[in-house]
Amino acid sequence: VERTLSIIKPDATRRNLTGKINAVYEDAGLQIVGQRRIRLTRPQAEAFYAEHKDRPFFGELVEFMISEPVVVQVLQGENAIARHRELMGATNPEKADEGTVRKQFALSMGENSVHGSDSPESARREIGFFFSELEIL
Ligand code: ATP
Ligand code: MG
Repeated sequence: VERTLSIIKPDATRRNLTGKINAVYEDAGLQIVGQRRIRLTRPQAEAFYAEHKDRPFFGELVEFMISEPVVVQVLQGENAIARHRELMGATNPEKADEGTVRKQFALSMGENSVHGSDSPESARREIGFFFSELEIL
């Protein structure tokens, strides 16, 4: 089995969509094996998204991610990383497939409701960023 790091972003927590998004993941067979609601600090958000620090949207992304609480979670299942990315849909909600989380809920390219690790390496780093092994059950 594989694990991936998922974030329910501020635009979604603000609109009470945590349960609906979790239902999409659970209905698809992904198990939520770690979950916490937190307010990201600016240094945390900057470090988490360090790979994007030279992109034009970096400032906007950090401001958005610290604007309100997020839910960080570890999802577990066969091919969890790729399957979670499929369930999320494209970064740009206008390009997301029907039935995906972003198609249903995202407001824009920036306020796109969810994050998911994009590779085994990023999953390992991102899970370790928020969770200790003892918190994943
Ligand atoms: P995530 O990493 O959040 O799962 P992703 O892998 O689909 O999303 P990335 O290219 O890694 O997309 O970008 C990270 C995040 O930065 C996006 O989810 C989105 O919130 C924001 N972002 C990306 N491109 C833009 C853009 N052109 N304008 C505004 N925000 C953007
Ligand atoms: Mg990404």
